[in-house]
Amino acid sequence: MTDAATPITQDLLTIPRKLPEGKPNLIGMTRADLGEALRAAGTPEKQVRMRVGQLWQWLYHWGVRDFAAMTNLSKDYRALLAENFVIALPELVTRQISDDGTRKYLVRIAGGHEVEVVYIPESDRGTLCISSQVGCTLTCSFCHTGTQKMVRNLTAGEIVGQVMLARDDLDEWPRPGTRNPDEARLLSNVVLMGMGEPLYNFDNVRDAMKIAMDPEGIALSRRRITLSTSGVVPEIARAATEIGCLLAVSFHATTDEVRNRLVPINRKWNIETLLGALRDYPKVSNSERITFEYVMLKDVNDSDADARRLVKLISGIPAKINLIPFNEWPGAPYQRSDRARIKAFAEIIHNAGYASPIRKPRGEDIMAACGQLKSATERARKSRAAIEAETRG
Ligand code: SAH
Ligand code: SF4
Repeated sequence: MTDAATPITQDLLTIPRKLPEGKPNLIGMTRADLGEALRAAGTPEKQVRMRVGQLWQWLYHWGVRDFAAMTNLSKDYRALLAENFVIALPELVTRQISDDGTRKYLVRIAGGHEVEVVYIPESDRGTLCISSQVGCTLTCSFCHTGTQKMVRNLTAGEIVGQVMLARDDLDEWPRPGTRNPDEARLLSNVVLMGMGEPLYNFDNVRDAMKIAMDPEGIALSRRRITLSTSGVVPEIARAATEIGCLLAVSFHATTDEVRNRLVPINRKWNIETLLGALRDYPKVSNSERITFEYVMLKDVNDSDADARRLVKLISGIPAKINLIPFNEWPGAPYQRSDRARIKAFAEIIHNAGYASPIRKPRGEDIMAACGQLKSATERARKSRAAIEAETRG
């Protein structure tokens, strides 16, 4: 972990984006829900389809948030929309930019809860890591989110809203005539690897990702969206058929005994059951390969024998193994494996013919790494509170 003195930029943004009460929010509605809502607000049946298409473009292609700017709709229709609906995103509270370009956003959702969203720029892509729940019902023993209470599922609007807020910040909504559609995108990939277990909030995650993938809007390819699950076996096939995005699985151990301790959902669906579901995934979703995430914990799951077992277990599954050096958090009961150990582990996997990238720690100066989301903010808040207490004397 880098020292807290590393220079970072921190802006405090105070854009008021509070949800006005009462009116339904258009953001997060599927096309079908949007049609239903427009119908209920008095849109003539014959026009519903066309109106859905027009609104969809304004909201998700142009990123417009103001009915008055929807110039291909009549004044009267714009007034009807404004009377009945709102266009609201979660509230962006703070943004931190790391030395390496990583951006971390603190986002406030209805009820005053907060989630963190991280943007990681790389030479060939820009990845946004988003959350699906506030907290998590699962209690993986190496994960800081697992120590936090599960507060609630995010709505579809709050999930796709994270993508929209990041596009706002990156100034990536197209402007007529200014953007070449082939231009590389700043935000090109989305990973559901923030807080929460996405497959325990299936419907909202699906609806949000469908909006993000819709070709007439944000238009992210389904191959640029990766859903990470701890292994909710009964929902894995549904993720293939109903979302069709790429899948990552938090594997982390090669025996049930160790995985039961690290990823307790393993007691419900063990390694063998999980692998069964994973074997079918690429066929059903038509995706190339599954990412096996493997957090490197010193003397727990990082031996050569583990690496060899891992290779054997996944044989026959088109796979890539993503080795994640453990991100330590205060009070964590584990340590990060040594660099040399991680390399030796990677070598065995590589020699067996699998890609085995070691995840580069990014944004460590702003605590933007996996398993740390929110914890840093909680800590920062604590220290602010401590400072206030001191100044009060
Ligand atoms: N709940 C989902 C997605 C969120 S976690 C899941 O478990 O897959 C995203 C990834 O970060 C998972 O692979 C998770 O195991 C990993 N992770 C959590 N805490 C971590 C930590 N402290 N260090 C490294 N990786 C961690
Ligand atoms: Fe939840 Fe994933 Fe953390 Fe496990 S690793 S506690 S499933 S967020």
